[in-house]
Amino acid sequence: MTIGVLALQGDFDAHRRRLEELGAEVVLVKKPEQLDAIDGLVIPGGESGTFLKLLGQEGFEKLKQFVRLKPTFGTCAGAILLASEVENPKQAGLGAIDIRIRRNAYGRQIDSSIREGRLLQSSLHDRPGSALEMVFIRAPRIERVGSGVEVIATEGKENAPVAVRQGKVMAATFHPELSEDTRVHRAFLALMERYRS
Ligand code: GLN
Repeated sequence: MTIGVLALQGDFDAHRRRLEELGAEVVLVKKPEQLDAIDGLVIPGGESGTFLKLLGQEGFEKLKQFVRLKPTFGTCAGAILLASEVENPKQAGLGAIDIRIRRNAYGRQIDSSIREGRLLQSSLHDRPGSALEMVFIRAPRIERVGSGVEVIATEGKENAPVAVRQGKVMAATFHPELSEDTRVHRAFLALMERYRS
């Protein structure tokens, strides 16, 4: 199984290192045609508006087809790209996960922080819920979760969803590649295993 990490912009290298550490074969994806040769994709953090610009219409359409067919994991800006509805400002999403997500949703003072959230017991993680370090960097907030969406991690007093999955697509508003804990990437590898074709 080969996993691609979208390497147009942003912190793709930390994902590459993490996935390799977990034994995966990783390629950095810089051209749309490379999508044909991979079994799953990670879309890293960065600036989602810039991703859209760099992808262009053709890259966006190609990626849209890809996420319907193969497991994909987006973190932060990657989660924004995967969403069905994007606010602040409104922007196109791939519609791969039925969520409404608000960009840069935390006030200035706490716009970047390390917090302790919970990794829940889910179809991708068969242990009881437990604490998980979460690095947020100018993070978006998931404001609505559709009925077909499974919440896999939460944060804060209100147990706000911060990692979700729908079908073969997973998204997190934080940066698991920047923490030592490997469980979130392992959950994605479990998802890839499940949809192995
Ligand atoms: N603020 C960025 C955006 O709106 C996301 C930040 C990140 O990926 N760390 O696209």
